[in-house]
Amino acid sequence: MKVFCAAERQRAHYPRNFLVNGARQPNPEVPERLDRLLQSVVVEGHDIEEPSDHGLGPIAAVHTPEYVRFLSRIYERWARIPEASEEVTPNIHPDCRSTAYPLSAVGQAGYHMADTACPIGPDSWESIRWSANSAASAAQHVSDGAHCAYALCRPPGHHAFSDLAGGFCYVNNSAVAAAVLRHRHARVAIVDVDLHHGNGTQGIFYRRADIFTLSVHADPIRFYPFFWGHAEERGEGPGLGYNRNLPLPRGSQDDTFLDALDRGLESVQAFAPGALVVALGLDAFEGDPFGGLSVTTEGFGRIGERLGQLGLPTTIVQEGGYLCDALGDNLASFLTGFEADGAVK
Ligand SMILES: [Zn+2]
Repeated sequence: MKVFCAAERQRAHYPRNFLVNGARQPNPEVPERLDRLLQSVVVEGHDIEEPSDHGLGPIAAVHTPEYVRFLSRIYERWARIPEASEEVTPNIHPDCRSTAYPLSAVGQAGYHMADTACPIGPDSWESIRWSANSAASAAQHVSDGAHCAYALCRPPGHHAFSDLAGGFCYVNNSAVAAAVLRHRHARVAIVDVDLHHGNGTQGIFYRRADIFTLSVHADPIRFYPFFWGHAEERGEGPGLGYNRNLPLPRGSQDDTFLDALDRGLESVQAFAPGALVVALGLDAFEGDPFGGLSVTTEGFGRIGERLGQLGLPTTIVQEGGYLCDALGDNLASFLTGFEADGAVK
């Protein structure tokens, strides 16, 4: 399978901190994640390619101009504030985001950042942009006729809304891939198997009937992102019925996850998409530091197999999955499972 990754550029972003239960902790979305995943695809013999520079177009297709400007310029402005933190980190949030747009860097950080898990440092924008380029290149490759491609995106993207960063995510790479595929296909489905609900992806397409969004995840009633991901959220206006959430009890194992995925995929098949985006989080793993669900390495192979059996042109976009011994094995297991059904490689 062709793998798209701009390793050097996507490694540069190095967030240092985030708050856990209010306490400052080292940020787990570290460059080493990329190294482990890259090593896995090298060992498995996949064909790695540098993405092309798609400019701002694919990002602007799913994010507001205010937000794109914020991401690209805020670090420089923040660094000029006397005694400001080393990374852009919000300390105030609006109660309602439909009011006037703030002019100050501090106001804009609050406006555009949902939590403290997505600090912006000197090299962040470079990595964010190239992570999105990897998604766009993989989607373009599939759009051009390949059966599948894997975008090794880092930083991840599925918590990013059209104008809001959150949960280690800035630009929504899965949404970028779907938007690229939409040029060729009338209907595109996004299936998110990350431990956490894909709230940003849901938000971006919530009022649209041309992109179906499915997410299987740990029940947000007691888990991040808390305020999104409940089964009752089904889309809005023209998008009503085009979003499906399948929250699972904490600690759910392979069979429970796969049962839910099978139910969700029935909806995907009824939507009859021309192409698929898989938002591939590997943090539902039983040994992941987030400890929310208990999917095994073998379980990722079964998840990959189910998605491969859909037989759709597919762009696989890397989302979460944090440092643990099996991180690379889980990716290999998923990709092997996906290709098991005799799909063209
Ligand atoms: Zn996650």
